[in-house]
Amino acid sequence: MFFPIQIDKKGYEIQNSEINMMEILESEKKNEFEQHIFDVTHNRLQCLDLQIIQINLGFKCNQTCEHCHVKASPSRTEQMSWATMETILSVTSKLPPVFIDITGGAPELHPHIKKFLRCLVEQHHRVQLRTNLTILLEPKYKDFSKFYKELGVELVASLPCYLEENVRLQRGEGVFEKSIEALQLLNKIGYGTTQKLPLTLVFNPLEPVLPPEQKALENDFRKYLAEHYNIQFTRLLTLTNMPIGRFLDVLKDKKPQYMTLLKQSFNPQTLPSLMCRHQINIGWDGTLYDCDFNLATCLPVTLKAPRHIQQFDQSVLSTRKIMTAGHCFGCTAGHGSSCGGALV
Ligand code: SF4
Ligand code: SF4
Repeated sequence: MFFPIQIDKKGYEIQNSEINMMEILESEKKNEFEQHIFDVTHNRLQCLDLQIIQINLGFKCNQTCEHCHVKASPSRTEQMSWATMETILSVTSKLPPVFIDITGGAPELHPHIKKFLRCLVEQHHRVQLRTNLTILLEPKYKDFSKFYKELGVELVASLPCYLEENVRLQRGEGVFEKSIEALQLLNKIGYGTTQKLPLTLVFNPLEPVLPPEQKALENDFRKYLAEHYNIQFTRLLTLTNMPIGRFLDVLKDKKPQYMTLLKQSFNPQTLPSLMCRHQINIGWDGTLYDCDFNLATCLPVTLKAPRHIQQFDQSVLSTRKIMTAGHCFGCTAGHGSSCGGALV
């Protein structure tokens, strides 16, 4: 559920409407995940610092992957406006250099992406972008690889397996072949082969199971991709599929077993590194979230912090209480999971 937000003159939400009172009462109750956290830490989950600003530009994508947590597709129309981008740039211009993580959808499909990236780089931020690889081969977007290189943008690319069959099942017909071609092209211009241009691959399981150990899988990927396709990359991240979005639709009646697996694999050692504790996520309409998974489930940051980029307040946001739900068990299972890979 996501209610329209009412803002007072200082930029904080009006707390006395009936809707917000209901939300406050709701937020006082501990959900199952919060209870787990409380049992271990005797506290609620809180942000520790703002090292990363993750920006979701919208849900338009040239692919329709079956595990996509934001249900992106070519028919989605949600896209960040230039006005919101300008507001973000005004905020980031006042920050010391931070790590900016651009995601979507396919960020390349945004009409103002190049201008936006240039401005962020000119502000001396370290910028990383999540590309699905196949878009880099589309005639209209063929110049993007070189553009990224020119700006020194770091790339993170999804490749859920080094075997064609598994990628086809998860990401669609022809995606594996195009991904391989795009990786070779990126290697050719220096991505993944030089320190200056990191190329990170992302793995997530096809089945409702936890990912294998990250380093061991990275070694397998490295060996197979080098031997069969002469491809190099910087590192591999493993991601647990969250029980939300399109993956939830795929799970169908396996959802209870999957949730049981995630809960039984709860690992308290993951708690200090949970990505929500070190970042803020900005949605395509400027709404602030603890992470992209909360964005996908329409769960903005706590009512006690500003909830829109227009009211960005670093000191309040960097100590905010984290909003959680059942899907959070996906981040704390086994070795842990985040947009930056395994946590322990
Ligand atoms: S997982 Fe990535 S590439 Fe696939 S549909 Fe979602 S945003 Fe697009
Ligand atoms: S889903 Fe988001 S809020 Fe929940 S634990 Fe993971 S990063 Fe934190």
